[in-house]
Amino acid sequence: MPVHDSDSSLNRSLSDQYLPGAPHNFNSLRAPLYSSKATALADVHPTVDLDLLRQLADGVRSDRIGSEDATRALCQVFEDTFTFEVLHGQLNSDLKAKVSAFLSGTPADDIAAKGFDPTPAPLSLHRHPFGGRVPDAHKKHHLFGGRARAKVEETIDTLEHRPIVYEDHERTMIMEVYADIPFLNWQQNVQTRPALTFVPSTVLGLQNLIKAYPHRRIRCSGYRHTRSDFFAEDGDILVSFVSLHYVASVLPGMISMFSDRINEAELSGELRSVQTFPPRAGQPDTQRVRVGVAVTPEELREWAIADGWSLPVDVTADEVTTGGIVGSMCHGSGFAHKSINDYIRSVEYVDVNGVVQSITDAKELHAALGCFGLMGIITHITYEVKKMTFAVMQPPRWQSQILATGNMAVLSPLTTDPEDLTIKTKLPNALHFRRGRHYARSRNMEIELPIPPLATDNSKPDWLTVRKAWWGAVNLVYSSANSPMRLAMDMRITGDSDIIMAPQRGNSHGTVALEIGSVTDTVTEEEWQTFCQSFVDMLTALAPEGKLRPHWGKEWVKMRFGGLPAREYIRTSAYKTEIPECLAMLQKIGKRQSWTLNDLHKRFSNKLLDDLFFHEPSEHA
Ligand SMILES: Cc1cc2nc3c(=O)[nH]c(=O)nc-3n(C[C@H](O)[C@H](O)[C@H](O)COP(=O)(O)OP(=O)(O)OC[C@H]3O[C@@H](n4cnc5c(N)ncnc54)[C@H](O)[C@@H]3O)c2cc1C
Repeated sequence: MPVHDSDSSLNRSLSDQYLPGAPHNFNSLRAPLYSSKATALADVHPTVDLDLLRQLADGVRSDRIGSEDATRALCQVFEDTFTFEVLHGQLNSDLKAKVSAFLSGTPADDIAAKGFDPTPAPLSLHRHPFGGRVPDAHKKHHLFGGRARAKVEETIDTLEHRPIVYEDHERTMIMEVYADIPFLNWQQNVQTRPALTFVPSTVLGLQNLIKAYPHRRIRCSGYRHTRSDFFAEDGDILVSFVSLHYVASVLPGMISMFSDRINEAELSGELRSVQTFPPRAGQPDTQRVRVGVAVTPEELREWAIADGWSLPVDVTADEVTTGGIVGSMCHGSGFAHKSINDYIRSVEYVDVNGVVQSITDAKELHAALGCFGLMGIITHITYEVKKMTFAVMQPPRWQSQILATGNMAVLSPLTTDPEDLTIKTKLPNALHFRRGRHYARSRNMEIELPIPPLATDNSKPDWLTVRKAWWGAVNLVYSSANSPMRLAMDMRITGDSDIIMAPQRGNSHGTVALEIGSVTDTVTEEEWQTFCQSFVDMLTALAPEGKLRPHWGKEWVKMRFGGLPAREYIRTSAYKTEIPECLAMLQKIGKRQSWTLNDLHKRFSNKLLDDLFFHEPSEHA
């Protein structure tokens, strides 16, 4: 590994590249690094060029550095670390040479003039749940995936585990299946051992699967980003809509942000399809699009850019599944916008009898789109989308400069940009301008606080509560010199929701979605839980009794709300009327579709849902 001389790198960086004309008073700038704290940091990270990092931060703060130089300097800060060396070593030789040239000072334009394709990025190699490959111990359980001709059945029959589920009428496709492999969500706080894990590719396959296991509980998963216990438990069946080899294998191509390309190979297959319906008579500005549950927001963004239609809201993640978004009742942002499920006009699923069903009635959808997969395996949903709109950004310079020092070195406006810079882009590009955030494991809790009406005019929202929530969280962070919130706080204002079990339901003056995050490895469980509890307590004091609700997909299960354990609070207070209302609607649908609530309890529930919805052990349990 190269040994780095920080003085020479500092001089090289300052004089040759990014601070033209700036006073070279290195010693005064570097002085704080000799404090005990900085020395400790340097001890822990001897190969990180902390001097250069500080110079970079100062340069950005005082507006003396352009985006290209800032990017180069940021890379140089980590250039001598083991991680950089490993990742750089994984690039193909062309990309490796170009990155090296850039770090040595060659202008980006000169490099790009010779062609520049940033894929495949090395991060993609680190996304497999088993660290990039299926361990040999698990391989023997992998029977067959994709197209298998009848003649291979004989071979398969000789294997130890042989649950054969056909995916086509001709019985030539066998569903990919694994026996007894551990399930771990992305954050690694939910760990179970399903008896079988299936990776389906057709609706027929899902029908056959449900019929083949009439006595097993079945739960689904996408990219496993949900942090609460909604997944399959020990001995259950897990249906994964993402290949286990590639739970999130490919870094979304950054280049695709700038093109209209749709990756045809990715967007193939029944459960991964996006299908636009013909425009409806008299509705030129709205359109319906049928989306398979395995489709990601990135794929939907590419479709939207190509087709000129768009959802007004979306999650910020590029790589989660549509099924996961529906399952966790996710939201975007904007006072005028309801939750994402509120824009769904039809849901298709395979029910407990293995029959494909669909629901289009608005009232029934309000229950079906908020029941955590209890009705069966969702295969497709149909969104109502609008004609493409545009987002305009005119951010104050200081704001983006501060962000740039942290993690977005190329975020405009920078020194080199004009004062009145305005960025206009298609809405889905603006909603997804952050790329790859889902790769980082993090702790996250998000609470939805209703915005109350103004005391003097109850037709208007009282923004004071929003300010109190914001500053309450900031004060919590600063109440300790060593705050456990080591990532970010995020606040979004949204509207309400018509989905019965959505946390925003009934918030007619809007909802504050307040999220706190931390870096997984940097906080102990106790530190984080204590901080989260203070956060919940602070917000509880701002909400009417029983109206504070957690985001279903984030951490909440270990909290106490108003003194009650979370599950009890959900059941007896926050969703006291909503749970029976939702169950009553499901029962009504079931009468028509020939299943009962007990069927749902037996086949599609798990312990958390038993507790919340049924509050009695099922026959199965
Ligand atoms: C970087 C990042 C950004 C995020 N941004 C937002 C945001 O802006 N707004 C927001 O609200 N959330 C956000 N989230 C939360 C995230 O959208 C949810 O946790 C979502 O559920 C994750 O999808 P997934 O594919 O990982 O699903 P999983 O976590 O694997 O599954 C989620 C739930 O859906 C169920 N499910 C999945 N597929 C099906 C199916 N086919 N049929 C029935 N049930 C099914 C599962 O059983 C489970 O209960 C973000 C998460 C990350 C990591």
